[in-house]
Amino acid sequence: MSGPDISIVGAGLAGSLLALDLARRGQSVELFERYPDPRRQRVPAGRSINLALAERGRMALSKAGLLETVEAFSLPMRGRMLHDVNGETRLQRYGQRADEVIWSVHRGHLNQALLDAAEGAGVRIHFDHELASADFEKRELRFTNAAGGTLTVAFRLAIGADGAGSALRRAMEQVRPLNAREVPLGHGYRELSIPPGPDGDFQLDPEALHIWPRGGYMMIALPNPDRSFTCTLFLANASSEEDAPSFERLQDPAEMRRFLTREFPDAVERMSELDHELRNNPVGYLATLYTDHWHLDDRAVLIGDAAHAIVPFHGQGMNAAFEDVVALSDRLVERGISEAVLEDFVAERKPSADAIAAMALDNYLEMRDRVRDPRFHLIKQLEWALEARLGEAFIPRYQMVMFHPEISYAEAHRRGERQRELLERLTEGHESIEEIDLDQACQAARRL
Ligand code: FAD
Repeated sequence: MSGPDISIVGAGLAGSLLALDLARRGQSVELFERYPDPRRQRVPAGRSINLALAERGRMALSKAGLLETVEAFSLPMRGRMLHDVNGETRLQRYGQRADEVIWSVHRGHLNQALLDAAEGAGVRIHFDHELASADFEKRELRFTNAAGGTLTVAFRLAIGADGAGSALRRAMEQVRPLNAREVPLGHGYRELSIPPGPDGDFQLDPEALHIWPRGGYMMIALPNPDRSFTCTLFLANASSEEDAPSFERLQDPAEMRRFLTREFPDAVERMSELDHELRNNPVGYLATLYTDHWHLDDRAVLIGDAAHAIVPFHGQGMNAAFEDVVALSDRLVERGISEAVLEDFVAERKPSADAIAAMALDNYLEMRDRVRDPRFHLIKQLEWALEARLGEAFIPRYQMVMFHPEISYAEAHRRGERQRELLERLTEGHESIEEIDLDQACQAARRL
Protein backbone atom coordinates (compact mmCIF):
# COMPACT_ATOMS: atom_id res chain seq x y z
CA MET A 1 0.00 0.00 0.00
CA SER A 2 1.49 3.35 -0.95
CA GLY A 3 0.14 6.77 -0.11
CA PRO A 4 1.02 10.42 -0.42
CA ASP A 5 3.84 11.86 1.69
CA ILE A 6 1.44 14.09 3.55
CA SER A 7 -2.13 13.15 4.52
CA ILE A 8 -4.25 15.97 5.90
CA VAL A 9 -7.39 15.13 7.87
CA GLY A 10 -10.09 17.84 7.64
CA ALA A 11 -10.80 20.00 4.58
CA GLY A 12 -12.05 22.96 6.61
CA LEU A 13 -10.29 26.30 6.54
CA ALA A 14 -6.81 25.30 7.75
CA GLY A 15 -6.67 21.88 6.09
CA SER A 16 -7.61 23.10 2.63
CA LEU A 17 -5.24 26.09 2.78
CA LEU A 18 -2.37 23.87 3.92
CA ALA A 19 -3.07 21.34 1.15
CA LEU A 20 -3.15 24.14 -1.41
CA ASP A 21 0.08 25.71 -0.21
CA LEU A 22 1.98 22.42 -0.04
CA ALA A 23 0.78 21.25 -3.45
CA ARG A 24 1.70 24.57 -5.06
CA ARG A 25 5.20 24.03 -3.72
CA GLY A 26 5.57 20.56 -5.17
CA GLN A 27 4.65 18.36 -2.21
CA SER A 28 2.67 15.14 -2.54
CA VAL A 29 -0.46 15.72 -0.44
CA GLU A 30 -3.96 14.29 -0.05
CA LEU A 31 -6.88 15.70 1.87
CA PHE A 32 -9.63 13.75 3.69
CA GLU A 33 -12.94 15.28 4.79
CA ARG A 34 -15.79 13.64 6.66
CA TYR A 35 -18.57 15.55 4.85
CA PRO A 36 -19.55 15.38 1.18
CA ASP A 37 -18.23 18.08 -1.17
CA PRO A 38 -19.92 21.35 -0.06
CA ARG A 39 -19.74 22.61 -3.67
CA ARG A 40 -22.08 19.84 -4.79
CA GLN A 41 -24.28 19.22 -1.80
CA ARG A 42 -25.47 21.15 1.24
CA VAL A 43 -23.48 20.13 4.32
CA PRO A 44 -24.11 21.09 7.96
CA ALA A 45 -23.27 24.78 8.31
CA GLY A 46 -21.50 24.09 11.60
CA ARG A 47 -20.24 27.24 13.23
CA SER A 48 -20.46 30.94 12.42
CA ILE A 49 -21.79 31.81 8.98
CA ASN A 50 -19.31 34.63 8.55
CA LEU A 51 -15.89 35.40 10.00
CA ALA A 52 -13.62 38.38 10.52
CA LEU A 53 -10.47 38.02 8.45
CA ALA A 54 -7.53 40.17 9.55
CA GLU A 55 -3.95 40.73 8.36
CA ARG A 56 -2.51 37.46 9.65
CA GLY A 57 -5.06 35.46 7.69
CA ARG A 58 -4.75 37.70 4.64
CA MET A 59 -1.00 37.25 4.63
CA ALA A 60 -1.38 33.47 4.55
CA LEU A 61 -3.93 33.69 1.73
CA SER A 62 -1.63 36.00 -0.17
CA LYS A 63 1.27 33.54 0.15
CA ALA A 64 -0.96 30.83 -1.29
CA GLY A 65 -1.94 33.14 -4.19
CA LEU A 66 -5.56 33.37 -3.09
CA LEU A 67 -5.94 36.84 -1.58
CA GLU A 68 -7.43 38.50 -4.66
CA THR A 69 -10.02 35.74 -5.06
CA VAL A 70 -11.05 36.07 -1.43
CA GLU A 71 -11.03 39.88 -1.48
CA ALA A 72 -13.62 39.76 -4.26
CA PHE A 73 -16.20 38.43 -1.79
CA SER A 74 -14.94 40.09 1.42
CA LEU A 75 -16.52 43.20 2.93
CA PRO A 76 -14.30 45.75 4.71
CA MET A 77 -15.30 46.80 8.23
CA ARG A 78 -13.60 49.98 9.39
CA GLY A 79 -14.62 49.86 13.06
CA ARG A 80 -17.02 48.80 15.75
CA MET A 81 -20.44 50.43 15.68
CA LEU A 82 -21.66 50.48 19.26
CA HIS A 83 -25.44 50.44 19.77
CA ASP A 84 -26.92 51.53 23.08
CA VAL A 85 -30.40 50.52 24.27
CA ASN A 86 -31.91 53.72 22.89
CA GLY A 87 -30.61 52.89 19.42
CA GLU A 88 -27.91 55.60 19.59
CA THR A 89 -24.79 54.52 17.69
CA ARG A 90 -21.14 55.44 17.91
CA LEU A 91 -18.41 54.29 15.52
CA GLN A 92 -15.11 53.31 17.11
CA ARG A 93 -12.59 52.96 14.31
CA TYR A 94 -10.24 49.96 14.37
CA GLY A 95 -7.19 52.02 13.53
CA GLN A 96 -5.96 55.46 12.58
CA ARG A 97 -4.85 54.47 9.09
CA ALA A 98 -7.34 54.05 6.25
CA ASP A 99 -6.03 50.53 5.54
CA GLU A 100 -6.60 49.37 9.15
CA VAL A 101 -9.83 47.52 8.42
CA ILE A 102 -10.91 43.95 9.00
CA TRP A 103 -12.89 41.89 6.52
CA SER A 104 -16.14 40.01 6.80
CA VAL A 105 -15.99 36.75 4.85
CA HIS A 106 -18.58 34.06 4.38
CA ARG A 107 -17.25 30.77 5.79
CA GLY A 108 -18.87 28.68 3.04
CA HIS A 109 -17.57 30.89 0.21
CA LEU A 110 -14.08 30.93 1.69
CA ASN A 111 -14.01 27.16 2.15
CA GLN A 112 -15.20 26.62 -1.40
CA ALA A 113 -12.58 28.98 -2.83
CA LEU A 114 -9.92 27.09 -0.88
CA LEU A 115 -11.15 23.71 -2.13
CA ASP A 116 -11.28 24.92 -5.75
CA ALA A 117 -7.74 26.28 -5.51
CA ALA A 118 -6.42 23.14 -3.77
CA GLU A 119 -7.89 20.91 -6.46
CA GLY A 120 -6.55 23.28 -9.11
CA ALA A 121 -3.08 22.82 -7.60
CA GLY A 122 -3.42 19.04 -7.93
CA VAL A 123 -4.59 18.00 -4.44
CA ARG A 124 -6.78 14.88 -4.35
CA ILE A 125 -9.64 15.56 -1.97
CA HIS A 126 -11.48 12.55 -0.56
CA PHE A 127 -14.88 13.73 0.64
CA ASP A 128 -17.14 11.52 2.75
CA HIS A 129 -14.07 10.12 4.49
CA GLU A 130 -14.35 10.37 8.27
CA LEU A 131 -11.24 9.47 10.20
CA ALA A 132 -12.21 6.64 12.54
CA SER A 133 -8.81 5.55 13.89
CA ALA A 134 -5.08 5.60 13.25
CA ASP A 135 -2.45 2.89 13.58
CA PHE A 136 0.79 4.77 14.15
CA GLU A 137 2.89 1.59 14.23
CA LYS A 138 1.79 0.64 10.75
CA ARG A 139 1.37 4.28 9.67
CA GLU A 140 -2.20 3.75 8.53
CA LEU A 141 -5.31 5.91 8.78
CA ARG A 142 -8.73 4.25 8.78
CA PHE A 143 -11.69 6.14 7.35
CA THR A 144 -15.41 5.34 7.20
CA ASN A 145 -17.99 6.72 4.79
CA ALA A 146 -21.72 7.42 5.03
CA ALA A 147 -22.54 4.10 3.31
CA GLY A 148 -20.71 2.23 6.08
CA GLY A 149 -17.62 1.40 4.01
CA THR A 150 -14.08 1.61 5.39
CA LEU A 151 -10.84 2.57 3.72
CA THR A 152 -7.29 2.24 5.01
CA VAL A 153 -4.67 4.68 3.77
CA ALA A 154 -0.93 4.57 4.36
CA PHE A 155 0.73 7.80 5.44
CA ARG A 156 4.17 9.17 6.02
CA LEU A 157 3.05 12.30 7.89
CA ALA A 158 -0.56 12.71 9.14
CA ILE A 159 -1.72 16.27 9.82
CA GLY A 160 -4.79 16.81 11.97
CA ALA A 161 -6.75 19.83 10.71
CA ASP A 162 -9.98 18.25 11.87
CA GLY A 163 -11.16 20.94 14.27
CA ALA A 164 -11.73 21.16 18.01
CA GLY A 165 -13.12 17.61 18.33
CA SER A 166 -10.14 16.22 16.36
CA ALA A 167 -10.24 12.46 15.81
CA LEU A 168 -6.54 12.45 14.95
CA ARG A 169 -5.75 14.12 18.29
CA ARG A 170 -7.70 11.43 20.11
CA ALA A 171 -5.83 8.73 18.21
CA MET A 172 -2.46 10.38 18.98
CA GLU A 173 -3.37 10.53 22.67
CA GLN A 174 -3.53 6.76 22.77
CA VAL A 175 0.19 6.68 21.94
CA ARG A 176 1.46 9.82 23.71
CA PRO A 177 -0.30 11.92 26.38
CA LEU A 178 -0.91 15.32 24.77
CA ASN A 179 -2.58 16.78 27.85
CA ALA A 180 -5.47 18.22 25.84
CA ARG A 181 -8.05 19.93 28.03
CA GLU A 182 -11.07 21.99 27.22
CA VAL A 183 -12.16 24.88 29.43
CA PRO A 184 -15.81 25.77 28.75
CA LEU A 185 -16.60 29.50 28.63
CA GLY A 186 -19.96 29.03 30.32
CA HIS A 187 -21.51 31.26 27.65
CA GLY A 188 -22.93 30.05 24.35
CA TYR A 189 -24.08 31.73 21.15
CA ARG A 190 -27.05 31.76 18.83
CA GLU A 191 -27.04 33.08 15.29
CA LEU A 192 -29.87 35.33 14.09
CA SER A 193 -30.14 37.51 11.00
CA ILE A 194 -31.01 40.96 9.74
CA PRO A 195 -32.10 40.39 6.13
CA PRO A 196 -31.84 43.13 3.48
CA GLY A 197 -34.51 45.83 3.85
CA PRO A 198 -37.57 46.23 1.59
CA ASP A 199 -35.40 48.22 -0.85
CA GLY A 200 -33.01 45.25 -1.03
CA ASP A 201 -30.22 47.17 0.71
CA PHE A 202 -28.35 46.70 4.00
CA GLN A 203 -30.40 47.76 7.01
CA LEU A 204 -27.29 48.85 8.98
CA ASP A 205 -23.98 50.44 8.00
CA PRO A 206 -22.22 47.61 6.10
CA GLU A 207 -18.75 48.98 6.77
CA ALA A 208 -18.81 48.20 10.47
CA LEU A 209 -18.93 45.29 12.87
CA HIS A 210 -21.96 46.13 14.98
CA ILE A 211 -21.95 45.52 18.73
CA TRP A 212 -24.74 45.79 21.26
CA PRO A 213 -22.72 45.63 24.53
CA ARG A 214 -24.84 44.97 27.59
CA GLY A 215 -22.43 44.11 30.38
CA GLY A 216 -22.90 40.39 31.05
CA TYR A 217 -23.83 39.59 27.45
CA MET A 218 -23.83 41.11 23.99
CA MET A 219 -24.90 40.77 20.41
CA ILE A 220 -22.74 41.42 17.34
CA ALA A 221 -23.50 41.62 13.60
CA LEU A 222 -21.25 41.20 10.54
CA PRO A 223 -22.31 42.10 6.97
CA ASN A 224 -22.73 39.56 4.16
CA PRO A 225 -22.40 40.10 0.40
CA ASP A 226 -26.15 39.41 -0.05
CA ARG A 227 -26.76 42.60 2.02
CA SER A 228 -27.91 40.75 5.10
CA PHE A 229 -26.18 40.73 8.48
CA THR A 230 -25.46 37.65 10.54
CA CYS A 231 -26.03 38.51 14.20
CA THR A 232 -24.62 36.46 17.05
CA LEU A 233 -26.07 36.65 20.54
CA PHE A 234 -23.55 35.69 23.25
CA LEU A 235 -25.14 34.88 26.58
CA ALA A 236 -24.57 32.74 29.70
CA ASN A 237 -25.69 29.15 29.26
CA ALA A 238 -27.19 29.12 32.74
CA SER A 239 -27.22 31.48 35.68
CA SER A 240 -27.75 30.97 39.40
CA GLU A 241 -28.53 34.67 39.95
CA GLU A 242 -32.17 35.64 40.28
CA ASP A 243 -33.41 37.33 37.08
CA ALA A 244 -30.08 37.07 35.24
CA PRO A 245 -30.76 36.13 31.59
CA SER A 246 -29.39 32.88 30.21
CA PHE A 247 -30.11 30.48 27.38
CA GLU A 248 -31.48 28.05 29.94
CA ARG A 249 -33.89 30.60 31.39
CA LEU A 250 -34.96 31.94 28.01
CA GLN A 251 -35.72 28.65 26.30
CA ASP A 252 -39.25 29.71 25.43
CA PRO A 253 -39.01 31.60 22.09
CA ALA A 254 -41.61 34.16 23.23
CA GLU A 255 -39.62 34.95 26.37
CA MET A 256 -36.41 35.18 24.36
CA ARG A 257 -38.14 37.57 21.94
CA ARG A 258 -39.26 39.79 24.85
CA PHE A 259 -35.71 39.83 26.22
CA LEU A 260 -34.20 40.68 22.83
CA THR A 261 -36.79 43.40 22.20
CA ARG A 262 -35.99 44.99 25.55
CA GLU A 263 -32.18 44.80 25.17
CA PHE A 264 -31.61 45.20 21.42
CA PRO A 265 -34.72 47.04 20.13
CA ASP A 266 -33.07 48.64 17.09
CA ALA A 267 -31.83 45.22 15.94
CA VAL A 268 -35.02 43.29 16.65
CA GLU A 269 -37.18 45.67 14.62
CA ARG A 270 -35.05 44.70 11.61
CA MET A 271 -35.13 40.92 12.23
CA SER A 272 -38.03 39.73 10.10
CA GLU A 273 -37.03 36.06 10.46
CA LEU A 274 -36.66 36.19 14.24
CA ASP A 275 -39.51 33.89 15.29
CA HIS A 276 -38.45 31.21 12.85
CA GLU A 277 -34.80 31.53 13.93
CA LEU A 278 -35.63 31.37 17.63
CA ARG A 279 -37.45 28.11 17.06
CA ASN A 280 -34.79 26.57 14.82
CA ASN A 281 -31.29 27.98 15.39
CA PRO A 282 -29.33 25.99 17.96
CA VAL A 283 -27.25 27.34 20.84
CA GLY A 284 -23.56 26.86 20.04
CA TYR A 285 -20.96 25.79 22.57
CA LEU A 286 -17.84 27.86 23.32
CA ALA A 287 -14.63 26.71 25.00
CA THR A 288 -10.87 27.12 24.91
CA LEU A 289 -8.84 24.04 24.03
CA TYR A 290 -5.30 23.85 25.41
CA THR A 291 -3.00 21.08 24.18
CA ASP A 292 0.53 20.74 25.59
CA HIS A 293 1.92 18.54 22.82
CA TRP A 294 0.86 18.92 19.22
CA HIS A 295 2.94 16.23 17.54
CA LEU A 296 3.84 12.57 17.70
CA ASP A 297 7.53 12.30 16.75
CA ASP A 298 7.74 12.58 12.94
CA ARG A 299 4.42 10.83 12.30
CA ALA A 300 1.64 13.25 13.17
CA VAL A 301 1.00 16.89 13.99
CA LEU A 302 -2.04 19.06 14.79
CA ILE A 303 -2.86 22.51 13.42
CA GLY A 304 -5.65 25.07 13.90
CA ASP A 305 -8.58 24.29 16.17
CA ALA A 306 -7.46 20.66 16.50
CA ALA A 307 -4.55 21.96 18.62
CA HIS A 308 -5.84 25.24 20.03
CA ALA A 309 -9.52 26.19 19.64
CA ILE A 310 -10.23 29.59 21.18
CA VAL A 311 -13.30 31.68 21.96
CA PRO A 312 -14.27 33.93 19.02
CA PHE A 313 -14.05 37.38 20.62
CA HIS A 314 -10.88 38.58 18.94
CA GLY A 315 -11.95 37.14 15.58
CA GLN A 316 -8.64 35.30 15.40
CA GLY A 317 -9.26 31.52 15.47
CA MET A 318 -9.08 31.13 11.70
CA ASN A 319 -6.36 33.77 11.46
CA ALA A 320 -4.26 31.84 13.97
CA ALA A 321 -4.96 28.58 12.11
CA PHE A 322 -3.76 30.23 8.89
CA GLU A 323 -0.56 31.33 10.63
CA ASP A 324 -0.02 27.69 11.63
CA VAL A 325 -0.38 26.77 7.96
CA VAL A 326 2.39 29.15 6.89
CA ALA A 327 4.72 28.11 9.71
CA LEU A 328 4.27 24.39 9.03
CA SER A 329 4.26 24.58 5.25
CA ASP A 330 7.48 26.63 5.14
CA ARG A 331 9.27 24.16 7.36
CA LEU A 332 8.06 21.06 5.52
CA VAL A 333 8.98 22.48 2.13
CA GLU A 334 12.36 23.83 3.20
CA ARG A 335 13.48 21.06 5.55
CA GLY A 336 11.37 17.98 4.81
CA ILE A 337 9.51 15.74 7.24
CA SER A 338 11.32 15.09 10.51
CA GLU A 339 10.70 15.11 14.24
CA ALA A 340 12.93 18.18 14.61
CA VAL A 341 10.84 20.09 12.07
CA LEU A 342 7.59 19.32 13.88
CA GLU A 343 9.15 20.16 17.25
CA ASP A 344 10.38 23.45 15.90
CA PHE A 345 6.94 24.24 14.46
CA VAL A 346 5.27 23.63 17.83
CA ALA A 347 7.94 25.60 19.69
CA GLU A 348 7.17 28.63 17.53
CA ARG A 349 3.40 28.35 17.51
CA LYS A 350 2.40 27.17 20.99
CA PRO A 351 3.34 30.35 22.91
CA SER A 352 1.37 32.34 20.36
CA ALA A 353 -1.63 30.00 20.56
CA ASP A 354 -1.65 30.42 24.35
CA ALA A 355 -1.35 34.20 24.01
CA ILE A 356 -4.24 34.59 21.57
CA ALA A 357 -6.37 32.27 23.73
CA ALA A 358 -5.84 34.64 26.68
CA MET A 359 -6.40 37.78 24.62
CA ALA A 360 -9.59 36.34 23.09
CA LEU A 361 -11.03 35.70 26.55
CA ASP A 362 -10.07 39.21 27.62
CA ASN A 363 -11.71 40.69 24.53
CA TYR A 364 -15.09 39.26 25.55
CA LEU A 365 -15.03 41.51 28.62
CA GLU A 366 -13.91 44.43 26.48
CA MET A 367 -16.63 43.98 23.86
CA ARG A 368 -19.56 43.24 26.14
CA ASP A 369 -18.65 45.62 28.98
CA ARG A 370 -15.56 47.84 28.92
CA VAL A 371 -16.55 49.60 25.67
CA ARG A 372 -19.35 51.24 27.71
CA ASP A 373 -16.91 52.82 30.18
CA PRO A 374 -15.68 56.43 29.53
CA ARG A 375 -12.27 55.43 30.98
CA PHE A 376 -11.94 52.80 28.23
CA HIS A 377 -12.43 55.51 25.59
CA LEU A 378 -9.90 57.78 27.29
CA ILE A 379 -7.36 54.94 27.27
CA LYS A 380 -8.05 54.33 23.56
CA GLN A 381 -7.57 58.05 22.84
CA LEU A 382 -4.28 58.07 24.70
CA GLU A 383 -3.11 54.90 22.90
CA TRP A 384 -3.82 56.52 19.57
CA ALA A 385 -2.13 59.78 20.57
CA LEU A 386 0.98 57.81 21.55
CA GLU A 387 0.87 55.78 18.34
CA ALA A 388 0.51 58.97 16.26
CA ARG A 389 3.57 60.48 17.98
CA LEU A 390 5.76 57.40 18.36
CA GLY A 391 4.84 55.28 15.35
CA GLU A 392 6.36 51.79 15.46
CA ALA A 393 7.68 52.45 18.98
CA PHE A 394 4.14 52.28 20.37
CA ILE A 395 1.56 50.11 18.65
CA PRO A 396 -1.62 49.48 20.69
CA ARG A 397 -2.28 45.82 21.47
CA TYR A 398 -5.43 45.59 19.38
CA GLN A 399 -3.53 46.91 16.37
CA MET A 400 -0.64 44.50 16.95
CA VAL A 401 -3.04 41.55 16.94
CA MET A 402 -5.18 42.64 14.00
CA PHE A 403 -2.81 44.51 11.69
CA HIS A 404 0.76 43.52 12.50
CA PRO A 405 1.44 39.89 11.54
CA GLU A 406 5.17 40.56 11.88
CA ILE A 407 4.61 40.79 15.67
CA SER A 408 3.75 37.37 17.09
CA TYR A 409 0.68 36.98 19.31
CA ALA A 410 3.03 36.11 22.16
CA GLU A 411 4.96 39.35 21.72
CA ALA A 412 1.73 41.37 21.33
CA HIS A 413 0.45 39.86 24.58
CA ARG A 414 3.67 40.65 26.47
CA ARG A 415 3.92 44.21 25.17
CA GLY A 416 0.17 44.69 25.65
CA GLU A 417 0.43 43.86 29.36
CA ARG A 418 3.17 46.46 29.87
CA GLN A 419 1.18 49.03 27.90
CA ARG A 420 -1.98 48.37 29.90
CA GLU A 421 -0.25 49.09 33.20
CA LEU A 422 1.20 52.33 31.83
CA LEU A 423 -2.08 53.50 30.24
CA GLU A 424 -4.01 52.83 33.44
CA ARG A 425 -1.45 54.78 35.45
CA LEU A 426 -1.43 57.72 33.01
CA THR A 427 -5.23 58.03 32.84
CA GLU A 428 -5.80 57.57 36.60
CA GLY A 429 -7.98 60.43 37.90
CA HIS A 430 -8.34 62.07 34.46
CA GLU A 431 -11.44 62.58 32.39
CA SER A 432 -10.09 63.97 29.15
CA ILE A 433 -6.97 63.65 27.03
CA GLU A 434 -6.26 67.39 27.45
CA GLU A 435 -5.51 66.76 31.14
CA ILE A 436 -2.67 64.36 30.31
CA ASP A 437 0.90 65.53 29.68
CA LEU A 438 1.60 63.87 26.33
CA ASP A 439 5.32 64.62 26.33
CA GLN A 440 5.74 62.83 29.63
CA ALA A 441 3.47 60.03 28.42
CA CYS A 442 5.65 59.60 25.32
CA GLN A 443 8.79 59.41 27.41
CA ALA A 444 7.24 56.76 29.64
CA ALA A 445 5.98 54.81 26.60
CA ARG A 446 9.45 54.88 25.02
CA ARG A 447 10.90 53.28 28.16
CA LEU A 448 8.51 50.26 27.98
P1 FAD B 1 -12.54 23.69 11.21
O1 FAD B 1 -12.92 24.91 10.47
O2 FAD B 1 -13.42 23.24 12.33
O3 FAD B 1 -12.42 22.51 10.15
C1 FAD B 1 -12.29 21.17 10.53
C2 FAD B 1 -12.66 20.28 9.35
O4 FAD B 1 -12.38 18.93 9.69
C3 FAD B 1 -14.14 20.34 9.01
O5 FAD B 1 -14.31 20.44 7.62
C4 FAD B 1 -14.69 19.02 9.55
O6 FAD B 1 -15.84 18.55 8.85
C5 FAD B 1 -13.49 18.12 9.34
N1 FAD B 1 -13.47 16.95 10.23
C6 FAD B 1 -13.78 16.90 11.55
N2 FAD B 1 -13.64 15.66 12.03
C7 FAD B 1 -13.21 14.89 11.00
C8 FAD B 1 -12.89 13.52 10.86
N3 FAD B 1 -12.97 12.67 11.91
N4 FAD B 1 -12.49 13.06 9.65
C9 FAD B 1 -12.39 13.90 8.59
N5 FAD B 1 -12.70 15.21 8.66
C10 FAD B 1 -13.10 15.70 9.85
N6 FAD B 1 -12.12 32.91 13.59
C11 FAD B 1 -11.67 34.06 13.01
O7 FAD B 1 -10.50 34.14 12.62
N7 FAD B 1 -12.50 35.13 12.86
C12 FAD B 1 -13.79 35.12 13.30
O8 FAD B 1 -14.52 36.11 13.17
C13 FAD B 1 -14.28 33.93 13.92
N8 FAD B 1 -15.55 33.89 14.37
C14 FAD B 1 -16.01 32.74 14.96
C15 FAD B 1 -17.31 32.73 15.46
C16 FAD B 1 -17.78 31.61 16.11
C17 FAD B 1 -19.18 31.63 16.67
C18 FAD B 1 -16.95 30.47 16.24
C19 FAD B 1 -17.44 29.24 16.94
C20 FAD B 1 -15.65 30.47 15.74
C21 FAD B 1 -15.17 31.61 15.11
N9 FAD B 1 -13.86 31.68 14.60
C22 FAD B 1 -13.39 32.83 14.03
C23 FAD B 1 -12.93 30.54 14.75
C24 FAD B 1 -12.85 29.72 13.48
O9 FAD B 1 -14.12 29.27 13.10
C25 FAD B 1 -11.93 28.51 13.67
O10 FAD B 1 -10.77 28.89 14.36
C26 FAD B 1 -11.56 27.89 12.34
O11 FAD B 1 -12.71 27.37 11.72
C27 FAD B 1 -10.51 26.79 12.53
O12 FAD B 1 -10.27 26.16 11.33
P2 FAD B 1 -9.84 24.62 11.29
O13 FAD B 1 -9.64 24.30 9.85
O14 FAD B 1 -8.76 24.39 12.27
O15 FAD B 1 -11.10 23.83 11.85
